[in-house]
Amino acid sequence: MAILSKISCLLFKMAKLSRINTKPNIALTFMSFTLLIVSTNSFANHIPKPTQQMVPLVQSCQTPGLVALTFDDGPSDNFTRVLSILDSHNVKATFFLVGKKLEKQNYIELAQQAITDGHQIENHSWDHSDFLTLSDAQITEQVSKTNEILWNTLRVIPRFVRPPHGRIDVPEAMPIWNLGYGIALWNLDPRDYKSTLFWGPQQVFERIEDALEPSSPATDSFVILMHDFSATSTDKLSDIIILIKQHGYTLATLDECVINSEEDSH
Ligand SMILES: [Zn+2]
Repeated sequence: MAILSKISCLLFKMAKLSRINTKPNIALTFMSFTLLIVSTNSFANHIPKPTQQMVPLVQSCQTPGLVALTFDDGPSDNFTRVLSILDSHNVKATFFLVGKKLEKQNYIELAQQAITDGHQIENHSWDHSDFLTLSDAQITEQVSKTNEILWNTLRVIPRFVRPPHGRIDVPEAMPIWNLGYGIALWNLDPRDYKSTLFWGPQQVFERIEDALEPSSPATDSFVILMHDFSATSTDKLSDIIILIKQHGYTLATLDECVINSEEDSH
């Protein structure tokens, strides 16, 4: 972990304390710092660590032409519906689960169904606290407690943490990097958490369409922020998947999204 600390310090200095916020491109400089450190399969605290290389920050995919659908805040009561839509299109997505929810057996069962269907499960904190208001020790607890319940209930070893609301600075990222986990943000937010008279499923769909229209799968990729609890998103999920495919993109999990094709070919 000492090496990780040193590298995190280096990242910290190079970032000049610039804020990693939720806007596209702001933190893209971090992408070039993909760490070639493979965490050992440590069973400290009886929770195995990820074995893949740590990618400090993900906002888009390393291979152009991929789109990762990511769903936050689950499992929700809408989970089965989302799984069924994804299944009908043979699409695999990534779910960032809130640890505390897995204290309920019915939510454990929903999450197990997602795993059976081939989806990726990741860490979205213990109780959706704002990391910018927490101490290093509290952030470590939010991440570790969630990893613990993901392992104990689902036998899942997460690789990424998505901070609630995407709110994180480099100092808050450091305890997460020190634990050996990457931070997952996004580069396309269709704002499905909004639900007003003027913002519904059609607006979410159009926001994604507006991003895809000027883009090219030869050069671009997207990590889309969605929420399985949101009817605003799920009502149009089927159409959104069709739209993404029509634009020539391939749907991928976050793991597939961070595979570097050049590295992979060696
Ligand atoms: Zn969230």
